[in-house]
Amino acid sequence: MYRSHTCGELRIADAGKKVTLSGWVQRVRNLGAMTFIDLRDRYGITQLVIDENSSSDLKDLVKELGREYVVKITGEVIERASKNKKIPTGEIEVKVDELTILNPSEIPPFTIEDETDGGDELRMKYRYLDLRRNPVKNALLLRHRMAQEVRKYLDEQDFVEVETPFLIKSTPEGARDFVVPSRMHPGEFYALPQSPQTFKQLLMVAGFDKYFQIVKCFRDEDLRADRQPEFTQIDCEMSFVERDDVLNTFEGLIKHLFSKVKGIEFNESFKRMPYTEAMEKYGSDKPDLRFGMEFVALNDVVKGKGFRVFDDAEYVGGICAEGCSEYTRKQLDKLTEFVKRPQVGASGLVYIKYNTDGTLKSSVDKFFSPEDLLAIANVMEAKPGDLMLILAGDKKKTLFALSELRLEMGSRLGLRDNNKFVPLWVVDFPLLEWDDEEKRYFAMHHPFTSPIPEDVPLFKTEPGKIRANAYDLVINGVEIGGGSIRIFDRELQQTMFDALGFTKEEAEKQFGFLMNAFKYGAPPHGGIAFGFDRLCSLFGGSESIRDYIAFPKNNAGRDVMIDSPSPISDKQLDELQIEIKKNE
Ligand code: ASP
Repeated sequence: MYRSHTCGELRIADAGKKVTLSGWVQRVRNLGAMTFIDLRDRYGITQLVIDENSSSDLKDLVKELGREYVVKITGEVIERASKNKKIPTGEIEVKVDELTILNPSEIPPFTIEDETDGGDELRMKYRYLDLRRNPVKNALLLRHRMAQEVRKYLDEQDFVEVETPFLIKSTPEGARDFVVPSRMHPGEFYALPQSPQTFKQLLMVAGFDKYFQIVKCFRDEDLRADRQPEFTQIDCEMSFVERDDVLNTFEGLIKHLFSKVKGIEFNESFKRMPYTEAMEKYGSDKPDLRFGMEFVALNDVVKGKGFRVFDDAEYVGGICAEGCSEYTRKQLDKLTEFVKRPQVGASGLVYIKYNTDGTLKSSVDKFFSPEDLLAIANVMEAKPGDLMLILAGDKKKTLFALSELRLEMGSRLGLRDNNKFVPLWVVDFPLLEWDDEEKRYFAMHHPFTSPIPEDVPLFKTEPGKIRANAYDLVINGVEIGGGSIRIFDRELQQTMFDALGFTKEEAEKQFGFLMNAFKYGAPPHGGIAFGFDRLCSLFGGSESIRDYIAFPKNNAGRDVMIDSPSPISDKQLDELQIEIKKNE
């Protein structure tokens, strides 16, 4: 027997018991007469003690121990003289009678402690060691709990978990596909699914009614901190539903998760906001609503005063930072630098200070009289003590820059508290997006998203104005999930393909199977997919999804632990009839 208890289990009530524990040596403290060992496993840490009365064999063996040795001990649970209130086992220790080294360990390349000295890459190379650390371990345990609760809730709602294939044909989600060469069909390739989109729709045609899957998806995109080439979705689809049915069902799922995993109850319905409103008020389709600071359009009050920057601008808009009128020159310069960064893209920043004594001071005093400034302050509903920050230029770019500035101010003012959660459904996205380079429309979501029925006639006149019956769930400025009510009618699907510039043949070649299925009685249906990694990191209060993935890839898409991607042998290449082009 390796253990009678885990290392997180023993309490004062167990004093006097003879126990066997196995685990890893976290630390050895040799205090001369006494030696203390922290023994660790997944469940916790138990202190072991070897004192002067212990056998000399045991004392000798203990001298051999190093960090991360795997040992088994037998001994008696005793009350500790100096108790450690910080850990659940802190009132006891185990006086060791017998110790067996099950496996020695080399000195780990970084310390296995909550705060470690290992850099990112090193910890990824030795991910199995990093996973021994509490913060990383707890992230995965949180993920496990979330997955179980997802299954519980959806099962109770009659959803059926169905697995869909990984070796498929491209699904046009907008990103690049990962492809897998077929040995049996040389020159032909499978694609790894960007999502099970078409399969879940086919399951609706098949009559499954409610489907879900916690599933890996693959997208060959340039990576950012919060992106991984393979990631997990909670993928769902339902039949005979309208938008509200879908939103209510999955609002229920998110509330269930908050309640069961975080003990947070949402009594109100989640707010819903049309895309256009989100863009006008927050410059983003995923606004962080933990704080206000809504944009105020200022075109009407600022134009015609001789200030070219405003007069020539398509859009002038501002935000009001409460209580910031005392910002120093230096602070304002920092903000100006911030908005001018290429990632933000503004050409400059105009400020108006509404001083606490009621006077107004701005960076454009030359053009604006105190009365003019007061008029702006009134439109912005600013009070004495506030600071108004104004950007101007091309509308799309300025809304974006103002959104970045709003988030920056929100962070500076401590308004983005990680323990506060504000969910929002963003609805009525545009169906199509014009691409200037390719001179054609792209589906903003994917080609199976249905238009809002009253907008269908716009296909003939202004396709760019068609609203989609699509929705995103946003929490704290993070897009957590998105989906839509689907097209289930062959003709409308054809119209959509036409609008996207597919010829009949291309549409047939790529999506013939779906169009065919629609011939045989497709029910009205709709669904959603949640980014599971991101949902976990949001629940865990972390910015990075990597911590919530057992074996993540680095920013260059590499698994540095198993060293992948890597070349394959000539034999493998031959079998696949693939020749590698040599780069000149
Ligand atoms: N397949 C979509 C996605 O991955 C989600 C959906 O429409 O259900 O974004």
